[in-house]
Amino acid sequence: MPRTTRAERRTRPASPGQPWRRRRPRGAFFCGHEPSACDHAPVIDLHAHSTRSDGRLTPGTLVARAAEAGVTTFALTDHDTTDGLADARAAADAHGMCFVNGVEISVTWQRRTLHIVGLAFDVDDAGLGAGLARLQHTRRERAERIAHKLEKCGVADALPRAQALAGDGQITRPHFARLLIEDGVCRDNAQAFKRHLRPGRDAHVAVEWAPLEDAVAWIQGAGGIAVLAHPFGYGFSAVWRQRAIAAFAQAGGDALEISTGTTDRQQEITAARNAAQHGLAGSLGSDFHAPEQFWLGLGRLRALPGDLPAVWQDRRFPGAGAAE
Ligand code: AMP
Ligand code: MN
Ligand code: MN
Ligand code: MN
Repeated sequence: MPRTTRAERRTRPASPGQPWRRRRPRGAFFCGHEPSACDHAPVIDLHAHSTRSDGRLTPGTLVARAAEAGVTTFALTDHDTTDGLADARAAADAHGMCFVNGVEISVTWQRRTLHIVGLAFDVDDAGLGAGLARLQHTRRERAERIAHKLEKCGVADALPRAQALAGDGQITRPHFARLLIEDGVCRDNAQAFKRHLRPGRDAHVAVEWAPLEDAVAWIQGAGGIAVLAHPFGYGFSAVWRQRAIAAFAQAGGDALEISTGTTDRQQEITAARNAAQHGLAGSLGSDFHAPEQFWLGLGRLRALPGDLPAVWQDRRFPGAGAAE
């Protein structure tokens, strides 16, 4: 078979006239709907962002876009907040889509940042709420310090402007990246991170996020499933990636994200092997932030490789165990 690039594989119709073909994720799938309402092939996306953190679409618009893209099971996973879940769930109900509560928790592990996605938890759980409130406080303090540093990079009034961009949502580094672009200091988001916002650069502020064990405990204490997000998204060496996965499993974590919007098949196979080694299930999530990320679509994810158990088969997942 001729070799094709990943971009080609993603955009090229499987055959003339046939739209992008999604492979059915392995294993039984239960979405919680009446079987008669669910004759569709499941399309799963369990990682995406809205304006409640660094996404560009409101929860309702994001869900509408996911529905349009054919997603049938969807989780909103904003950074350190569950504020968008009620709106997203209402929109998902209107679209007849299976909605799963989600969050992406910032963790500091071995002086590195990890992201732990929580799925299918009770949004009213007090322990999870207290943990997220603490992280939101850390975000606020960090924003003040980043803003102060950005003044020296030529960005005036960075804090109120970042706050205005974030609105009701959490202030994140991509908000500061937008200010760097607005003020002509940087060309684009990638350059803003590369030159100013990533560790070691002049506007980076290191903070202590949640301990890994705490994030897992908050999620599971709220009845949810803890997933180590995008194992290839931290810029780790293979050794550190495996250490992080092992530490997550040791902390009691449940699953590993296998296919994301930016993984290639080889990475997915490697991640699936790592998950199996540590008894973790597999999850799928695009990590969609904005329509401008034209290379990354909601629900456009390859199926889990091999026979790795899927996170949606977990008994805590909505509808799991309802039917075989
Ligand atoms: P924060 O949690 O506020 O530190 O922001 C983290 C977010 O910034 C991630 O979820 C990504 O959306 C984005 N991000 C992190 N690193 C980069 C990078 N190198 N280039 C572009 N975006 C990035
Ligand atoms: Mn993000
Ligand atoms: Mn992340
Ligand atoms: Mn994310």
